[in-house]
Amino acid sequence: MALIIDGKKISDTIKQEIKEKTQELINSRGIRPGLAVLLVGEDAASQIYVRSKAKACEDLGFHSLVERMPASASEEEVLALVNRWNNDPSIHGILVQLPLPKQINEVKVLLAISPRKDVDGFHPENLGRLMIGMPGFVSCTPAGIVELLVRSNIELKGKHVVVVGRSNIVGKPVANLLYQKNPRANAIVTICHTAAKDLSYYTKQADILIAAVGVPEVIKSEDVKENVTVIDVGINRIEDPNHPKGSRVVGDVDYHAVFEKAHAITPVPGGVGPMTIAMLMNNTYISAEGSIFNV
Ligand code: NDP
Repeated sequence: MALIIDGKKISDTIKQEIKEKTQELINSRGIRPGLAVLLVGEDAASQIYVRSKAKACEDLGFHSLVERMPASASEEEVLALVNRWNNDPSIHGILVQLPLPKQINEVKVLLAISPRKDVDGFHPENLGRLMIGMPGFVSCTPAGIVELLVRSNIELKGKHVVVVGRSNIVGKPVANLLYQKNPRANAIVTICHTAAKDLSYYTKQADILIAAVGVPEVIKSEDVKENVTVIDVGINRIEDPNHPKGSRVVGDVDYHAVFEKAHAITPVPGGVGPMTIAMLMNNTYISAEGSIFNV
């Protein structure tokens, strides 16, 4: 029987830890962590994400600020707000919800966020710090994956981790995290992408398989070896006439078939997903606490 890595439970534990540390930070130094979120336009999924981030802030005792701009907002307006938040001492984390409307250059906006408030970990300075093993903000989903592995006592040192997917927000940073020389990593890492002629050749070698592909159930039972640990990052909606909603969410891994062979596996939903917000809160707390950029 595989161990089901319960991301909901682990993320609840992490949020409780942050809540307690936050109270201490408020009591001892009068600092309340503050997260500012900008939502431009009416994208339905973005509105749900922003609401859940604001709710998490409220639950943990953070100061939370949500600004909404119409889809017609200009790049200058967005940059001006980011600049104002960069200089606001009550704001420790800045998040611009993506995607942005076409007239706004996303890269320009992400570069405008101070690396010291870049709690999404998307700024090239933080990505560079990650690559050379310096402290900095690590993007939330990759940080959450490492927490899931460490808190589930999955040994990483010397293990072969195969990451499928090389996006800047999941595949590349998680690979970078896991080959670092420190006790929470030290793995041997392979990254796969669409140029892999025989994906299964690589995935079958994994002691730990991280699937961040965005293709529903693409990893089958025959693609993994016995006793593999599987972290399924995928969130894919597929049609299902038997489901009351007519559709359901699945991961990048054929969960039930792979479960039979695995040592441990994350479900979808309820695996990696809940960790992302917990790590966003953790980054915001770390920013408020203030020692991360001492190096
Ligand atoms: P991207 O689409 O940016 O990247 C997908 C990667 O998978 C690319 O590198 C692509 O290769 C590779 N890929 C696609 N198809 C194949 C294939 N058949 N064989 C090998 N490699 C393939 O996706 P993201 O990284 O942003 O997201 C991946 C999944 O994770 C999505 O389902 C997304 O919804 C989910 N997600 C979940 C989060 C969470 O909180 N749980 C957070 C972020 C994402 P190439 O580079 O060659 O195109």
